[in-house]
Amino acid sequence: MASLLASKEVSSVELTRAHLERTDAVDGAVHSYLHVDREGALEQARAVDGRRAAGEDLDVLAGVPIAVKDIVATQGLPTTCGSKILEGWVPPYDATLVRRLREAGLPILGKTNMDEFAMGSSTEHSAWGPSHNPWDLDRIPGGSGGGSSSVVASFQAPLAIGTDTGGSIRQPAAVTGTVGTKPTYGGVSRYGLVALASSLDQAGPCTRSVLDAALLHSLIGGHDPLDSTSIDAPVPPVVEAARRADVSGMTIGVVTQLGGEGYQAGVRARFEESVQLLVDGGAKVVEVDCPNFDYALSAYYLILPSEASSNLAKFDAMRYGMRVLPSGVDDPSAEQVMAATRDAGFGDEVKRRIILGTYALSSGYYGACYGQAQKVRRLIADDFTRAFEVADVLVSPTAPTTAFRIGEKLDDPMAMYLNDIATIPANLAGVPGMSLPSGLADEDGLPTGIQILAPATRDERLYAVGAALEGALVERWGGPLLDRAPSLTPPFTAPPTTSKEA
Ligand code: GLN
Repeated sequence: MASLLASKEVSSVELTRAHLERTDAVDGAVHSYLHVDREGALEQARAVDGRRAAGEDLDVLAGVPIAVKDIVATQGLPTTCGSKILEGWVPPYDATLVRRLREAGLPILGKTNMDEFAMGSSTEHSAWGPSHNPWDLDRIPGGSGGGSSSVVASFQAPLAIGTDTGGSIRQPAAVTGTVGTKPTYGGVSRYGLVALASSLDQAGPCTRSVLDAALLHSLIGGHDPLDSTSIDAPVPPVVEAARRADVSGMTIGVVTQLGGEGYQAGVRARFEESVQLLVDGGAKVVEVDCPNFDYALSAYYLILPSEASSNLAKFDAMRYGMRVLPSGVDDPSAEQVMAATRDAGFGDEVKRRIILGTYALSSGYYGACYGQAQKVRRLIADDFTRAFEVADVLVSPTAPTTAFRIGEKLDDPMAMYLNDIATIPANLAGVPGMSLPSGLADEDGLPTGIQILAPATRDERLYAVGAALEGALVERWGGPLLDRAPSLTPPFTAPPTTSKEA
């Protein structure tokens, strides 16, 4: 698309309109979007076409439309985080990454669905109903960023932005046959992201190819004085690495703790096959032991709720969004209004985590819960340091299973949490990770993914390995995997829909 735009064979208006038409045709069934900004996107497309006609020197992605997860602040466009408590909130400013997209001339098509405040692995915790997996509409598209994975997998947008606190870019990519990267912590500005867990959150690209991800990563990454945790260094050379697509001479570490028991047979088979393809490409494989990864999930589910309980305290019925007055109270106090609003505005999973986090931070339990989890976090980071002494990148399956059925795990929080068992260590240590499709599982014909992890600030290694493997896998499967997604082949029997007023 970028090269068609550059050669003026296609205009951004045409490209944007084509994607909006696709949304009309399929989003009634897929439900990737919470808001579609038809007029805004076309206006931005016209503006970038004008800049190109005037001979301006443009970013390679200029004119390519994009969808943005609804946890990222977009000036003038609703931002609900999949929550009722933010219904109707329109941010007065753009997140830094959105500002960069706009300045580069990428029309923003709309805001994508997600689990409420990014808590979940399926989008079933969205207050506005789940998104559906384009491979099988009865299945989940992953979460929390299932809107951003499905929007790309159903060809409603060529690119999307996701956020990853424990796996919400990578796990949705794995179960929809798409590519997703969580950059190094601090690699992409968090300014304007509604915070879930500030020490874990990171925004990144959701795409259909490794090179697409690199181009988008390169555009949104880089230092931002508005985010005090932003890394003050140039973006790693991810585009060059993706174009190089070479693993020869590299050492790939297979993590013992990620991939054995509890992983679906077809997921494991595709993973092993991918590792073999890397060996065929000239890489050396070693097994690496990361014993503390076994405690990653437990540490994460103390650290994340602790930070979330603090971050979500700002939703107090006074400053943003919803306000509910308690019934039967004549002159309610601020606390009563807050309680009534939070009761009505937050869903069960959000309440569960606020309670857990408040408990973990309370005096008397602080040391045993939060403090202990922070120590485990350090041990996990040490495991990574040791592993990267012997391997350039680490690999594992991205998620233990292919997409499960909508409803299957909704009443079992523990089963839901286990989806992120392989992705969480990277967030705890701040290292970058990528998921790319490794093929289809034999038992159900559904896509599965391989995860690549690299040392902090060495994001380019993800792209060198990812692009090399992608090339080998396209050959192995006789083309891009998404071409085989059954419900994508026309006619797509979806009721037309334009925008979703939740
Ligand atoms: N599924 C994980 C959770 O529920 C990850 C969420 C995320 O990355 N935002 O916390």
